Amino acid sequence: MVQRHYDVHRVRAESSTRLTGWGANMRVDCHLTEPGFSSDIAAQLDQAGTIARGLGRSYGDCAINAGGQVIGMTRADRCLCFDEHTGTLTCEAGVSLERIIHDFAPCGWFPMITPGTKFVTVGGCIANDIHGKAHHAQGCFLNSVDSMTVLLASGEVVVASRSVNPDLFWATFGGMGLLGVILTATIRLRKIETTYFHQRSIRVNNLEEMLTALDEHDDTFPYSVATLDVLATGAHLGRGVLTLGDHASLDDLPSQLAADPLRISGPPKLTVPFELPEFTLNPLSIRLVNAVIQRIQASAAPIGHYESFFYPLDKIARWNRGYGCRGFTQYQFVIPFTDGPSRMREILTAILSSGELPFLNVLKRLGKESGGVLSFPQEGYTFAIDFPIRRNTAALLRRLDAMVLDAGGRIYLGKDSYVEASTFRTMYPALDNWLATKAKYDPHCVFTSNLGRRVGLV
Ligand SMILES: Cc1cc2nc3c(=O)[nH]c(=O)nc-3n(C[C@H](O)[C@H](O)[C@H](O)COP(=O)(O)OP(=O)(O)OC[C@H]3O[C@@H](n4cnc5c(N)ncnc54)[C@H](O)[C@@H]3O)c2cc1C
Repeated sequence: MVQRHYDVHRVRAESSTRLTGWGANMRVDCHLTEPGFSSDIAAQLDQAGTIARGLGRSYGDCAINAGGQVIGMTRADRCLCFDEHTGTLTCEAGVSLERIIHDFAPCGWFPMITPGTKFVTVGGCIANDIHGKAHHAQGCFLNSVDSMTVLLASGEVVVASRSVNPDLFWATFGGMGLLGVILTATIRLRKIETTYFHQRSIRVNNLEEMLTALDEHDDTFPYSVATLDVLATGAHLGRGVLTLGDHASLDDLPSQLAADPLRISGPPKLTVPFELPEFTLNPLSIRLVNAVIQRIQASAAPIGHYESFFYPLDKIARWNRGYGCRGFTQYQFVIPFTDGPSRMREILTAILSSGELPFLNVLKRLGKESGGVLSFPQEGYTFAIDFPIRRNTAALLRRLDAMVLDAGGRIYLGKDSYVEASTFRTMYPALDNWLATKAKYDPHCVFTSNLGRRVGLV
């Protein structure tokens, strides 16, 4: 095995600070501890209540803990060992996908599964068992994880894998950091010839055509995602652009790109400097942004870089400030394929006729469940849409929860800020199984968070 070792000195920092999720719809004061080494964390664990935090890209309240401790993991970000033959990486859980791409893509390795931003940590990807555009073909992040080490409430550090402490392993995916702190993980990267994608965009006229197009291309392209035109209603509801793609080989690249086939991108060049005033988001600006998004999606070049293919929003740092000081939330649900088109039509109609101002959205197919006890994905159609927080937003989301539940679906905790405990329990029938694992590994609920308390996970 060829191994590359890393060693960086870090300084421990500690402070009390106001934290939010990415949606910035709730701000709470927490005691933030940012250990420099994963091996320091056990000594700093606050037995009165604590939660790990990655890069804070979950939209809601899963990585905040009002009045209690939050362990910021981003300084514990060392790559510890890399096998250049198999692409197996052991790293501290605070390593980001951005860092992995930066260090390993130029050598032909890329994260196996990635969400729509690279500014996420390995620990955060495990705790939410994140999914990407290829879930129907490649599954969740879980599929790329061989094992991890977890700091338990008792202070003991244990290995969790498919064969060692398997109950802890499966419950940690989708476990929202509430079973322990993931200190390190061993994950498999994907071999790539280039950092480019060949892609195809298809304009679609309505929802039934869109879902049929997604179904038809299920086997032809591993990556598929649609963006809907939020101004299209009635007969045109569901109009939008479907984008399909796959990793480009060296032979696919035109000569000017083939000269540097494993090019990586730099940091974002643009930043939203402060929270924009609320009037910035109005029917006119949304009409404009919606039209621009539809045009960009529809005119995708046949070969695109991973940055625009996977991470279009990463081009603007702190874009979440665009939603103003009340913040926003993302509502993401999945409903089964059975009755999917009619149920999706009902839910979309409720959203688009609500008078709220949503625009950023994504529609995808999800494949089989991953095995993570509380992992979000189940077979069906998933739709995610951002809502700026307004007076009636919470009431609308309650109505949507009822519709999703009635359709046999569930919502994604990584995006959620509002679901009630009773609704969550019905959406996730494996909850009792997960709670039994919680009682075994954290009987006194040392690991707790705003989300954990809200939905009944602690
Ligand atoms: C633009 C954008 C696009 C996105 N696209 C997708 C997508 O396509 N698919 C998808 O699934 N998600 C998506 N997400 C959500 C995001 O991938 C997840 O919320 C992810 O978990 C965030 O990782 P993080 O490092 O920021 O973790 P945080 O948000 O900081 O924390 C998330 C959870 O992980 C826990 N946690 C973090 N580190 C550890 C650790 N070391 N040990 C134990 N628990 C830990 C926290 O307690 C918390 O419960 C997107 C988010 C954004 C902003």
